Amino acid sequence: SGLWLVMTHLFTDLLVQAYLDLFCLSQEKLRQVSGQLKKDMVRGLGKHTHHKAPVKMLPSFVRATPDGTEKGDFLALDLGGTNFRVLHVRVVEDLQKVLKMDSQICAIPKEMMLGTGQQLFDHIAKCLSDFLVSQDLKGQTLPLGFTFSFPCEQKEIDKSILIRWTKGFNCSGVEGEDVVKLLKEAIHRRGDFDIGSVAMVNDTVGTMMSCGYRDQSCEIGMIIGTGTNACYMEEMKNVKRVEGEDGRMCINTEWGGFGDDGSLRGIQTEFDLEVDKTSINPGVHTFEKMISGMYLGEIVRLLLLKLTEDKLLFEGQTSETLRTPESFLTKFISEVEEPDSGLENARRILSQLNLKWNEVDAHVVRLVCDTVSSRSARLCAAALAAIANHMRVSRKLDRLKTTVGVDGTVYRKHPNFSEELQETVRLLAPKCDITFLVSEDGSGKGAAMVTAVAQRLALHDHH
Ligand code: BGC
Ligand code: MG
Repeated sequence: SGLWLVMTHLFTDLLVQAYLDLFCLSQEKLRQVSGQLKKDMVRGLGKHTHHKAPVKMLPSFVRATPDGTEKGDFLALDLGGTNFRVLHVRVVEDLQKVLKMDSQICAIPKEMMLGTGQQLFDHIAKCLSDFLVSQDLKGQTLPLGFTFSFPCEQKEIDKSILIRWTKGFNCSGVEGEDVVKLLKEAIHRRGDFDIGSVAMVNDTVGTMMSCGYRDQSCEIGMIIGTGTNACYMEEMKNVKRVEGEDGRMCINTEWGGFGDDGSLRGIQTEFDLEVDKTSINPGVHTFEKMISGMYLGEIVRLLLLKLTEDKLLFEGQTSETLRTPESFLTKFISEVEEPDSGLENARRILSQLNLKWNEVDAHVVRLVCDTVSSRSARLCAAALAAIANHMRVSRKLDRLKTTVGVDGTVYRKHPNFSEELQETVRLLAPKCDITFLVSEDGSGKGAAMVTAVAQRLALHDHH
């Protein structure tokens, strides 16, 4: 019977592997994905190709990284990550430092994420007002950096039109509108305080800029958290939709939209299609849905359900909990993959999900998590390689040496995501030397830095 058991396990492994193979992308496949994104980046930048391009390549109106002479006090808002936050930030010139003086988290209830835009912006203005009172700052009109982590068509640093909501947000009356105007209107409705000039910042841009203070060669920002995205410094001559040929501008790629024209159909699994179909924004942000924290847990859950249905897990018995959408949290993936405590965590989580598991089940679940998170890391690497290769070629360099500022819960919390990503980028962009720097609060300090650099440049223009 020992032999029988071994045979059954081998057979089970084979059947499980058949599903997991759908998620294993060869180096050749990754190279194709990277090449496709490179083409789509050029389409997004082009004047006449932009409107149909799935990767939007949005100008950020950030034309320079910090030079160390920036200074002053700023407010920062951070909307679109794990929490909504209000911050008071001080940039100190001589110390070359960005200090977070204070900050406050303001919860945004789920109903509000799906309510009206006016409710959302009134809530933001109220949080800001409460914060100013608590910090004794209400009399001042400080400049404000607004990290708004959604795709926006920026017309200027302080004019930013929401293209579409992503992640869990879907407030009415905001898409197509200028977010700065909506914020200012909400503040005026209150009438109890005012703000100075505003700079609109995508979180990727804030992340790049906050690292830029520590490392002048930081010219890429990347987020792998609730959502995923990257920005980089592009040659102005390639930015066809903005006038001017000289210097550079930071481009917010919005790579989450990669594949929205069907180009990733060949690698999407039935599980990816299901995640997309049941999301609040079907058909858009295809790439993001294969990669980011908002969706990874759900992909794993659907896989586990399928394997159970095929009697390859839990003796064919699911549970009410596992059948409930979003019950397998993305943070479980990190816990199950912990090198030392992983299996122990798997057992605990499976019990929590009311499943009847045995040791083989725990191992299989770990394998499933590993497969799904690895695909995510490798796809991100393919995308990052596309950016680095593009930068190297357009700067006419034999080798590109650059630093990527990174942030996001998936990148930070997963036990080996960052290693796998870095290893794969090295394979796909062999002529680029890329250093990775985890940003220190890019959405808070970075937003202040963008505002400070904008002020420095405005002053410069003035003289
Ligand atoms: C948004 C991006 C953002 C990314 C990371 C995506 O859903 O479209 O603007 O940078 O999430 O937060
Ligand atoms: Mg141009």
